[in-house]
Amino acid sequence: PSFDPAPLVGALNPAQREAVMAPPQHRLVLAGAGSGKTRVLTHRVAWLIAAENVSPLSILAVTFTNKAAAEMRARIEQLVDVPIRAMWVGTFHGIAHRMLRMHYREADLPQNFQILDADDQLRLVKRVLKNLDLADDQWPPKTVAGWINAQKEEARRPQHFSDEGDFTQRQFVRIYSAYEESCRRQGVVDFAELLLRAFELTRDHAEIQAHYRRRFRHILVDEFQDTNTLQYRWLRTLAGADGILFAVGDDDQSIYSWRGARVEHMMRLTTDFPGCEIVRLEQNYRSTGMILSAANGLIARNSARLGKQLWTDSGDGEPVQLYAAYNEYDEAEFVVNRIREHVAAGHRYDDTAVLYRMGAQSRVLEEALIREHIPYRIHGGLRFFERQEIKDALAYLRLLHHRDDDTSFERVVNVPARGIGSTTVEKLREYARRHGQSLWAAAREGGDAVLGRAAARVREFLALIESMAAETKELSLSKTTERVIERSGLRDHYNKEKGEQAEARLENLDELISATRSFELSIEPPAEGQPALDPLTQFLTHAALEAGEQQAGPGEDCVQLMTLHAAKGLEFPVVFMVGMEHGLFPHVRATDEGKLDEERRLCYVGITRARQCLYMSYAERRRLHGVEQLCVPSQFLREIPHHVMVELRPRAHVVRQAFAPGAHGPYRREWGTPAPSHTPLPESLRQSQGPQGLALGQRVRHARFGEGTILQFDGDGERMRVEVRFQAAGTKWLMLSVANLQPA
Ligand code: ATP
Ligand code: MG
Repeated sequence: PSFDPAPLVGALNPAQREAVMAPPQHRLVLAGAGSGKTRVLTHRVAWLIAAENVSPLSILAVTFTNKAAAEMRARIEQLVDVPIRAMWVGTFHGIAHRMLRMHYREADLPQNFQILDADDQLRLVKRVLKNLDLADDQWPPKTVAGWINAQKEEARRPQHFSDEGDFTQRQFVRIYSAYEESCRRQGVVDFAELLLRAFELTRDHAEIQAHYRRRFRHILVDEFQDTNTLQYRWLRTLAGADGILFAVGDDDQSIYSWRGARVEHMMRLTTDFPGCEIVRLEQNYRSTGMILSAANGLIARNSARLGKQLWTDSGDGEPVQLYAAYNEYDEAEFVVNRIREHVAAGHRYDDTAVLYRMGAQSRVLEEALIREHIPYRIHGGLRFFERQEIKDALAYLRLLHHRDDDTSFERVVNVPARGIGSTTVEKLREYARRHGQSLWAAAREGGDAVLGRAAARVREFLALIESMAAETKELSLSKTTERVIERSGLRDHYNKEKGEQAEARLENLDELISATRSFELSIEPPAEGQPALDPLTQFLTHAALEAGEQQAGPGEDCVQLMTLHAAKGLEFPVVFMVGMEHGLFPHVRATDEGKLDEERRLCYVGITRARQCLYMSYAERRRLHGVEQLCVPSQFLREIPHHVMVELRPRAHVVRQAFAPGAHGPYRREWGTPAPSHTPLPESLRQSQGPQGLALGQRVRHARFGEGTILQFDGDGERMRVEVRFQAAGTKWLMLSVANLQPA
């Protein structure tokens, strides 16, 4: 039957169409933000199935998030009339996990292996350090965990290190071994391990390798610029000589080098995958002209770019609107007020995203949103399944299934408090270590000699777990969860605590019960060849792998809060980028370590999320890490071409009163009218034209106070004063005309 490609590629431009309809051959689509890369990838899969008669089973598609995977699946189902349930679409982690479940024996894992999230991993590292008698302050657990993950990302196991390294390295390797041993004993796998195991599985098992190479004829990867070394090697292993790779990416959006991502892989494609052709897309369909100019102007400052042009025919639109807030509360008010205005003008809440550099910035925003009864949702950040009370409940559930799960044991043995102190746990740990056992086994077998006065209480805890396990054996997952929250005493515990926080925790526990209920309804029969897993393990896996992307259920219309990193690949009509301050964004660590280009790419990612409206804001003062600081606007604000930006200024005195220390709302605000577009660069950002050739944020030297940074100017003419933060002498106001500041 003749195939009509029109419905499939009709809504694509010629360059996109060419990429979608290209003959089977390696391809890299290298193109800027919003140019339709993800769209091309989706259509390519549909094309392969519909036009090239490729079986969905022969396709492996890698997306950046589980949500993106779900969307891609839905989209493809619309485009082709073939069932694609069996097709593999997912994140690297999701796909690795799926493979390991199928081949758990070959991967040397227990069938119901559990996944350690970042927080669990940290706890485990701490425990390992204790066992090895290494002090936390000399071996910071975060550093150790980071080191271990970095080794795994390079596919290095402890046995790959020679004994010749220096002392520090030998210690690290020792910790790494002990950590691995502990994971093995508990049957747990951390995130990096998922990938490494899956890679080793396909590399070392000839049969499995042959199977997947035969199977996956087409491998498609979105956001290719952020693949790390291990993922890249895995892709190569899976592709073999015959698999065909279709990768899409944007070097300007590479923002995960701190997690091992290597943008160079994009360039290696042409050598590692012979005949790989590069396709470029240049039309942006997402943003207005002003927003696109802002993005283009900013990213042009980076060096070592592969170089791309982006244009749009969607009209100029509104300039980027900049707001200088008095402090972070004022900034949050600004965001909330503008959201109100947009909603009044017909937007939905979920048309709006608020993006920030650091998760901790969300708190003040959340408070403002709650006060105004604006529904919101946080993506990433402290995720639902990472909340304390949720992890407590999950730990009980895990113990029901797997008594040797030391991480869970330690977490809840004294939560709620039952008089089992840290000394007792210490003794248990010691005993467990000596006998190579789990904490559970140690508690059972150690006897009074180990447990001392707490013996009865520990036995009670063991009995509690055993009896909960017996009681819930026949119950569904949600009923089990409900029962465990009651019987463990968690509900009582938070009931007694009182206060808003405790109330929120109780609500979350209820939310957990409903989450298990809807999960039960969504469980599908296992895919071909996949063993049927118990629902609890399935749920825990879901919690570990997909927790980051709370998906708003249908009909839930809310403002989206997330870090800039989490916003990759998404788009919103209205975007706020808050906290545009030096030291916050670019992050202070990045400016120190010369990682400025990556921060700039992150800023580029943020700007290019916006379709129609982009707001940026900075606070003149902000409390960071518990200290109130005077802030300098981010250099990125200066780097955006000024003709595409306007500054919004509230009537300054109103704000200053409302937000003066000690003042409490009502925060009624009046807004200054935005200046017409094409105004000169806002005063507060003008760098080169500062008085005496000095600029905000500039390093200067003073004869008596030494070196410092200029925070602000005040007044004019002879009376102009300047505020400088001196390294040694602290922050001072000086008369500019007599201070005799010299550029440092
Ligand atoms: P990013 O780099 O941010 O991931 P992208 O290159 O993947 O962006 P898409 O998300 O695929 O871009 O597309 C951006 C927007 O433009 C989407 O809303 C998409 O539907 C739309 N779009 C892409 N191509 C076209 C087209 N040919 N006609 C109309 N709309 C298009
Ligand atoms: Mg995309």
